[in-house]
Amino acid sequence: MNASSPHVRFAPSPTGYLHAGNARQAIVNYLFARAQGGRFTLRIDDTDAERSRPEYEAAIEQDLAWLGLTWDDKFNQSARLARYAEAAETLKRAGRLYPCFESEEELAAKRALRAKRKLPPIYDRAMLSLTPAQRAAAEANGKTPYWRFRLSDGAALWEDLVLGERTIRFNTLSDPVLIRADGTPLYTFTSVVDDLDTGITHVIRGEDHTTNTAVQIDLWRALAPKKPLPAFAHLPLISDIAGDKLSKRSGSVSLRTFRRDGIEPMALAAYLARLGSRRDPEPLTLAELGPSFNLDAFSRGAPRFDAKQLLSLNRRILHNVAFDFVADRLPEGASPAFWQAIRGNIDLLSEARHWWEITHGPIDPPEIPEARSILQAALGSLPEAPWDETTWKSWTTMIAAATDTRGKALFMPLRLALTGEPHGPDLAALLPLITRELVIERLERAAR
Ligand code: GLU
Repeated sequence: MNASSPHVRFAPSPTGYLHAGNARQAIVNYLFARAQGGRFTLRIDDTDAERSRPEYEAAIEQDLAWLGLTWDDKFNQSARLARYAEAAETLKRAGRLYPCFESEEELAAKRALRAKRKLPPIYDRAMLSLTPAQRAAAEANGKTPYWRFRLSDGAALWEDLVLGERTIRFNTLSDPVLIRADGTPLYTFTSVVDDLDTGITHVIRGEDHTTNTAVQIDLWRALAPKKPLPAFAHLPLISDIAGDKLSKRSGSVSLRTFRRDGIEPMALAAYLARLGSRRDPEPLTLAELGPSFNLDAFSRGAPRFDAKQLLSLNRRILHNVAFDFVADRLPEGASPAFWQAIRGNIDLLSEARHWWEITHGPIDPPEIPEARSILQAALGSLPEAPWDETTWKSWTTMIAAATDTRGKALFMPLRLALTGEPHGPDLAALLPLITRELVIERLERAAR
């Protein structure tokens, strides 16, 4: 890392659990930093004391760690209130922060009036012309002001690293409130102070923040006119498979839900890392994804969250995962051979339990009277234990010869009798996992 290397941040508000959308922003920031030897900061946006909860902050950290993310440093906005107050003074001195007294009801009435006149619902800046005497009178009446930032004339213009050239005219926006009447600063403001103080070079976040970006560019210039602006990249928000806003039903579930459903963190991270980009998701770790990560690959259209694609990635990942990696999440007693046998046949790790029951527990094989002669030949030629992966081949060769059957006609009744399922792992690998007693019992039941 050096002075010119990028510095990015992921800045969640601890007001709930992380979901796919936030996780994607975290991953994209993280990979961007890793690709360029930069720095990745976790910033907790917790100035809203009423809605922020320490338990959500802890959950955010756990969920990021579950995904495999690490951060170079972390800080909480709530620890920087004095600095925000100082920055607010700078704005006041420059005449950019002005006190306001209108209540929510008064503002709503103004908006309604403007709507009637077909005007956009923008704040009319009435309080800009408040005289010192009027302010004193309001304060004498027990009112405390909240503070708005006076936006510049003109427009904010930036070359968005994902969306391309962007212009937002300031006269289409209301002067934003930066400080509430109780003195607490709002995110729009604190974020700029932090980005400035910590030397953030790239602000990468959701497209829902583009209006904030316009305001924040103006704020940045007001606070530090000489300091170059960071670059901005806005990722289009994820939509569901039909193109609608992501809902709980369609995937905007918390990371904890993905975890509970048995999605591998690597699958989710790899899926989110490439969602909305030209590159197909691949079963790669974050460390493998880092070096080639590039924001240029992201497109301007809203990406669609496809649970099927995620599941297929999960499957591909499980297919190659080593026993040690999953051992503590497999049924008690599961061996490397068991994992080797079943890993190609599950979408989710939780399905291992199903195959464990098939290899070790009681099952209810179907009765297959039409295959009775095959099943009886199978019983008659069943080799003595111990078995290995060659047993299946030699056993079925004997059954084939005795019954003059081969292919599906031979294998399907055996598979059904031994597993109760028409599909599944290679029986050469599965057979040695089942005891000889169980095999006999199952063949006898199926042959009834
Ligand atoms: N706390 C903000 C959010 O969660 C951060 C946005 C930003 O990255 O600036 O939306």
